[in-house]
Amino acid sequence: MAPHPHYPHLFSPLDLGFTQLRNRILMGSMHTGLEEMGPEGFERMAAYYAERAAGGVGMIITGGTAPNRASELAATPYGPFDSEEQVPWHRQVTDAVHAAAPDCHICLQILHAGPLARSEDPVAPSAIASPLNPRVPREMTEDDIEQTLADFARCARLAKAAGYDGVEIIGSAGYLLSTFLLEKTNQRGDRWGGSYENRMRFPLAVLRRVREAVGDDFIVIYRIAAMEMMADGSSWEEVVQLGKAVEAAGATIMSTHFVWHQAQVPTISTRVPRAAFASVTGRLRRELSIPLITSNRINMPDVAERVLADGLADITSMGRPMLADPEFARKADEGRADEINTCIACNQACLDHAFRGKIVSCLVNPRACHETELNYTPAASARRIAVVGAGPAGLACAVTAAQRGHAVTLFEASGEIGGHFNLALRIPGKEEFAETIRYYRRMIELHGVELRLNTAVAPESLGDDWDEVVVATGVHARTPAIPGIDHPMVMGYREAIMGTREVGRCVAIIGAGGIGFDVAELVSHAGPSAALDIDVFAREWGIDFAGHPRGGVAGVQPVVERADREVFLLQRKPTKVGKGLAPTTGWTHKLALKRRGVHMLAGCEYLGIDDGGITIRRDDAVQRLPVDTVIVCAGQESTRDLYDALAARREGVHLIGGADLAVEIDAKRAIDQGCRLAAGF
Ligand code: NAP
Ligand code: SF4
Repeated sequence: MAPHPHYPHLFSPLDLGFTQLRNRILMGSMHTGLEEMGPEGFERMAAYYAERAAGGVGMIITGGTAPNRASELAATPYGPFDSEEQVPWHRQVTDAVHAAAPDCHICLQILHAGPLARSEDPVAPSAIASPLNPRVPREMTEDDIEQTLADFARCARLAKAAGYDGVEIIGSAGYLLSTFLLEKTNQRGDRWGGSYENRMRFPLAVLRRVREAVGDDFIVIYRIAAMEMMADGSSWEEVVQLGKAVEAAGATIMSTHFVWHQAQVPTISTRVPRAAFASVTGRLRRELSIPLITSNRINMPDVAERVLADGLADITSMGRPMLADPEFARKADEGRADEINTCIACNQACLDHAFRGKIVSCLVNPRACHETELNYTPAASARRIAVVGAGPAGLACAVTAAQRGHAVTLFEASGEIGGHFNLALRIPGKEEFAETIRYYRRMIELHGVELRLNTAVAPESLGDDWDEVVVATGVHARTPAIPGIDHPMVMGYREAIMGTREVGRCVAIIGAGGIGFDVAELVSHAGPSAALDIDVFAREWGIDFAGHPRGGVAGVQPVVERADREVFLLQRKPTKVGKGLAPTTGWTHKLALKRRGVHMLAGCEYLGIDDGGITIRRDDAVQRLPVDTVIVCAGQESTRDLYDALAARREGVHLIGGADLAVEIDAKRAIDQGCRLAAGF
């Protein structure tokens, strides 16, 4: 067969002996929240996974599935996958996937959460609580261990009966199997603890029992922590020893993971460079003979192709990119990578939702996990639609409506599309936001949206030639009523981010919301962005990829470059600064700023700004911060004027995005609202 014209490695099949993967693109395991919903959830999962199978992915791993009650991440009304009764539900998923693409493989991930379980009776090798779960687990007895091995085997057998092509056993991240491996979580004195051989015994026994249960011609993937990102993690020698033992115990494929959930190193957020951890998989691959999967921040086909071409892995796992664009693989295959809706690693609608117990979706693709209810069907008749404002809400609405066959004109007052995303992409660590603008630019072209830049719309200039008018004019920055707010040293966040005003050596930032944090990151930062340079990233977070000390980080001090500037990040609320940031990424923002010496002050009353700086009162004490620059990041207000004027004159006027609700100028809500409105035209 001739090599693939665009991505020869990515689209070469992988022969597993008894079966063949059609390409090297794996949709990695992601919990969706649909798993706990019983029959309705499975119907939705069938549509969700089938769409990815039809989109060309080679293999899918489902979200983690508990093999018994104690192992559940969250207590669910339908319980673990432990009986024949649930087989038909899973069958719906596997049938849908195989009907969509007979050569797409789907594997069930079996997850025993161990000390991270929120079940009534969590268990672990020793009674040591995880920092992420206040419940102290019970030390497993010999009977518990035997029963758990039987439960894994039963779950794997049920998976096979339900039509899955394989299973993945997760042996990383701080879940049960991995806690047997580390001394800090396994303090047993019996044959399941002590030496490394003994600590490996349980994970390997699980693998053997699963293999026995499913026979030879069934995919069994074993996921190991190749680096835990914790100083008391595994040594390189232990990782290799485990890898070899896993291979000998009958794994078909090994998957590499790079974190325990409590680690203090970001591994998947947008501040992590693309494919940052693939070199670790590459080193391990040289020691083993089974195929290896690598993962983390591989979000475009050229990145995956490079990883494979460099010999770092056999398969590239892309979870979130498949949420963002179910047609990722097909677009890459057909040389249409510029049409891919790229995962920007924001975590806002996927991991943050999972963390909060909400159904997972995607900021750039609100259809993800909502395939049965949000569909962009061809319009019955083409309407003329004016969309005013080309920020995320306007772009999503315009492109979706045009894709459905409507005639759309998109008006934008500035000279570029993207709205606040044009600010975000200038923040070190948020460069990925440029991909969303690239995607929309291409969609505008592809679906024939008429784009009118530098065109401010007034109620009287819009004309009456429209069936629908969508106002997505966004927000304007709030100017707080502080004495001296018109002092020349005061500037807005837009000026600071766009660099149209010079920022001085001592800076006060008023407002510590998402944008205040972004501005603090920008003005305290020096040198290249860690998100674009793996060496800088490794230095900033104290990782030694090449030397591989314990956990990848033992004995390595983070070294952070910082601007020659003193920065104060201020808020009025008495709560901890950064408390309202997103749950899965907020801690990285806070830690990064702390390491650059940014002063974070809560409970500030702003008394005034003058030539001497900004005066604040905290805890009844008046304090003057001798700053030469004040940057206002005090939130926004809606721009409703155009909407109000248009709605007073005509029917069919709609308001979306920040113009509708400024307190949540949140791209996730804006894109969702834009898409849903357009789906109904
Ligand atoms: P924000 O999150 O609402 O924060 C505004 C800040 O200004 C708050 O800290 C508020 O805290 C302060 N403030 C409000 N009114 C004020 C007043 N009259 N005087 C002085 N201070 C005032 O708004 P934002 O930072 O502009 O972010 C807007 C949205 O952008 C966010 O909601 C988020 O969706 C999105 N965003 C997210 C991220 C992210 O990391 N995920 C990054 C950037 C933007 P106090 O009242 O306590 O002072
Ligand atoms: Fe990627 Fe953000 Fe979508 Fe999650 S929400 S899949 S991180 S773009």
